[in-house]
Formats: sequence, structure tokens, C-alpha cells
Amino acid sequence: MAHTLLLLFVICGLTSTVGPTVEPDEMLLQPAGEGQLSLDPSEVAAAAVDFGGVARAEPLAVMRPGGAGDVARLVRAAYRSARWFPVSARGHGHSTNGQALASGGVVVQMSRGRIAPRPMPAYSPSTGEYYVDVWGGDLWVDVLNWTLANGGLAPKSWTDYLYLSVGGTLSNAGVSGQAFHHGPQISNVYELDVVTGKGELTTCSEEQNSELFHGVLGGLGQFGIITRARIALETAPHRVRWIRVLYSDFAAFTRDQELLVSLHGAHRSERFDYVEGFVIVDEGLINNWRSSFFSPKNPVKMSSVHANAGLLYCLEMTKNYDDSAADSIDEVVEALLGQLGYMPASVFTTDLPYVDFLDRVHKAEMRLRAKGLWAVPHPWLNLFVPASRIADFDRGVFRGILGNKSSGPILIYPMNRHKWDDRSSVVTPHEDTFYLVAFLRSALPDSGDPTQSLEHLSRQNKKILEFCDDAGIEIKQYLPDHRSRAEWARHFGPKWGRFLRRKAQFDPKCMLATGQGILPPPSIL
Ligand code: FAD
Repeated sequence: MAHTLLLLFVICGLTSTVGPTVEPDEMLLQPAGEGQLSLDPSEVAAAAVDFGGVARAEPLAVMRPGGAGDVARLVRAAYRSARWFPVSARGHGHSTNGQALASGGVVVQMSRGRIAPRPMPAYSPSTGEYYVDVWGGDLWVDVLNWTLANGGLAPKSWTDYLYLSVGGTLSNAGVSGQAFHHGPQISNVYELDVVTGKGELTTCSEEQNSELFHGVLGGLGQFGIITRARIALETAPHRVRWIRVLYSDFAAFTRDQELLVSLHGAHRSERFDYVEGFVIVDEGLINNWRSSFFSPKNPVKMSSVHANAGLLYCLEMTKNYDDSAADSIDEVVEALLGQLGYMPASVFTTDLPYVDFLDRVHKAEMRLRAKGLWAVPHPWLNLFVPASRIADFDRGVFRGILGNKSSGPILIYPMNRHKWDDRSSVVTPHEDTFYLVAFLRSALPDSGDPTQSLEHLSRQNKKILEFCDDAGIEIKQYLPDHRSRAEWARHFGPKWGRFLRRKAQFDPKCMLATGQGILPPPSIL
């Protein structure tokens, strides 16, 4: 073991912090960069788990890179060595199925790796847009704070939660209520620096090394490690009018959601800036981590909206505005709401600074942390469902399999497929409109309630997938979790051949992000 680690350190030429297995004076170290390899048991243990709290795989070591050069040296060493080892980038470890783990290999801890200062946002005369270059491990919340402080700018497309890394969300897609208009985060990137599975640090964009660029976006970490991303920016609005309305009729709910996302090309005063929604299965909504909106000051009780249908659907929208438009915001919102068929007297409105809206889930996180309910198992299931089958999905899943307990938020909102670039690695249903349905559930093993157990929720997830299969609903998993090559081939569908070609070109030894379980892991040292 000690010999193996020594070898690892020597081939990487990195400085190290060590645990008990290797004496410092045993090591022939060439501090070629600022990165550190750590065998510290607490760091190794932290890199062996993720937000899901279910998967577990111990790496041999954790690397904290000082820059892209360190990442390239590590991957090159792994690639060239006869005794190659898995390497996984880890952003903030917020995957739920072990995607960022590297059993017996090295986890590159990107989110704590940055040392150099960030470049300032800049203007591109060719696109007429602002952009910022950020480190692949930067958290979106830090990108936001940086761009706001330097020109009052902000990225255009978001996730609901900002404590995720740029590389982590770009490896999937990065979706939220802005996606219907701006597309997912992967549609809002101009250029990347990527360390491929051969250890080559390569700049790529639509024009330059485009196969790598498109492959890495939504590429589940399979083709390279993103060390720099050039992110599209816009002038940040000051404030947000945030509105929720309720439906008991699913058809009316989805008709209105689809109407709103069809307005993506309309003048900004004639469309909302964000469209999401969620299913209210039980009054547990009041206590869940996305419910900050329905605060004691703004309470929602099922009885208050006279719902006897059991299920309610909540449509959620925002309109951004600046102080200069404060006088007209009521009128603009009213005109937009006038097109919708929600339940009378079910409009809940709040108004807040743009940053507070973007960072809304973090506040809920703090509350859950205080109650010890954040670090619990999260058997999440995220699906893209074709719009033509969403009513069948409602009947079979929301009104069928779920029963009357949600155990966490269930998001549902449509997106426009033409805002997604088919050349990227991500897979979606083929229809022009498809829904994200996200079961963001927490297991509470000690609650004494069997419907809150990990086993029960995992079984339900399985049933949901089987139901879709049996009913011929051609869903795609988002943040996919498949464990056999056949399942992955089915997931990628017509994109599987291209996936394999890109893998052979950019990570021929299949060393990267082995926690995704797509191709057989390499033989370990
Ligand atoms: P990790 O879990 O660390 O890594 C995920 C995968 O990306 C791994 O395979 C890893 O190897 C790879 N990877 C990480 N960094 C890099 C890099 N620099 N280069 C190449 N590959 C890399 N997703 C949404 O789209 N919308 C949401 O609204 C949303 N909300 C969320 C809210 C919460 C509370 C949580 C926990 C997750 C949410 N997610 C959402 C899911 C999230 O986007 C993904 O799980 C994402 O991968 C997490 O980012 P991370 O930095 O923690 O990645």
C-alpha cells in the first residue's frame, strides 16, 4: 500500500499532506505545482460519500489542485502509468448516486482548489454580450457574487440551488425556471478549458475543438475535467416579483405552464422570466425545504383554497424588474396572470431582491441543517417526461404510486427542446416540449414512519420507472443513474454510438468519473 501511494505521489510530482501510511521523508517529491495530494483519513472519508448519502466508495487519495496544470499532471500521470487509476472531479459532491466517487483512485476536489484570483467580467464585441471566465470548481453562488460586484452582471441560466459547482452542473445540464427562455446552463457557455482523459489541457468552443466542447457539456464528466468555463452574463435585475397560483385540475395546470413557456420569444414585458411548478401531495409542503415562500407571514392551508381533490398543483413564476420599472410591475404581472386559469383566490405574491430569489433554497437548507434534516439519505429521482404523456404520468404516479405522502418537494415544469443543443451529450425526450419531474425526497430512517424509509422511497422510485416502461412513456433520467452497459446504451439511445466514439477519443482508458458506472472501471493499482 505504502509503495503504491509513494508511486502515485512521485508520478504526479505534487506536494502532499499525508496520513499515517507514508512517512514524508520516504517521498521523492517534486512540487511541480501548487496542488496537494492528501491521504488525510478525514478528507478521504469525505470524498467517499455524497449528498445522496447512499453510495460509498473510498478513493486512495484526494487532490486539491492549485490550477489546471495540476489537474493535467495528475491525469497525464494516471494515463501514462502502466498502473493507471481512476480520477474523478468532485465539485461540491451534491450528486445522489456516487457519480463523483473514485473507488481506489484519486478524487480531484475542484471546489476547494482555486488559488488564483478570478478574471473580471468582460464584454465581447463579436457577440455583443458580457461573459466571465471562472474556475471549473467555483460554486455558482461565488460566480454570482463576483459578477454582481463587478459590473452588476449575473449569469442568465441557473439551478434552483447555488451551492453547486460550475463543472458539476455543466456536466449534467443545469436547469431551473429560466431554462424555457435561456436554455439550460450548458446552452449559456461560450468556451471551456478541459483536461481530457489523456491529460491534455485543451481549449474548446463551438469553433475550436468543437467535438470536445459539445461532448463535455452534459457529458457526466466522461470526456474531461472542466477547469475553466466562459459563462454568458446579462445585466442583473434588481428585484423579483414572485408569484404562486394553485390548481386542482392537472390539465389546466399544464396548459397554463405550456402557454407560459411558449412565450419564450415574446418581448420581456409579455412573458415571465422564470416558470416552474410543483405538486402538493400533502400538507408536508409547509415544512419542506422549498417552502420558504409560504412563510408564517404568508401561510397556505389546503382548507383555505377549498381543495377537496387531494392533490394540488402550484404554478410558480417570477417577473424581474428594476427600480425604474417599479411603477408598472403590478400592471405587467396582472396582464400576464390574466391569461391563466388557476383557482380563484389562490394567488400568493412576494417581492424580494433578485439575489435573495436566486439564493432561496440556501435559506431553507440552513433551517433543515439546524434541525439535523439536511444530512439524511436523498433517494432522488429526476425525469424528463415528454409533454404528450404528462397527463398519463400524473394519473399513474402523482395520483397513483405516490399515495398521499410526498416526503419532499416534487417539481414539475416544462422546457423547450429547441433551447437545448443536440450536439451536447445530454439526452432529452424527442418532443418539442418536455417536463422536468423531480422527486427530491428525503429518507428519515428514525422517524418510525415506514413510508419515510429509504427502502420505501427507493421502491417507489423503481415502481415509477417500471410504470413508465409499462405505459410506454419514453422518459429520460436527468442526473441519470444506470448500472449496466445495456441500461446506459438505452439511456443514450441514438447518441450511444457518438458517446462511445467520444470516449475512445478523449478518455480511451476509461479513467474519468468512473462513479457514473458507464463503462467498466479500469483495473485498480
Ligand atoms: P458533483 O456531485 O461533485 O459531481 C457531479 C458529476 O460531475 C461527477 O460525475 C463529477 O465527476 C463531475 N464533475 C464535477 N466537477 C467537474 C468538472 N469540473 N469537470 C468535469 N466533470 C466534473 N440540478 C439542476 O440542474 N437544477 C437544480 O435546480 C438543482 N438543484 C439541486 C439542489 C440541491 C440541494 C442538490 C443537492 C442538487 C441539485 N441539482 C440541481 C443537481 C446538481 O446540479 C447535480 O447533482 C450536480 O452534479 C451537482 O454539482 P456538484 O458540483 O456537487 O457535482
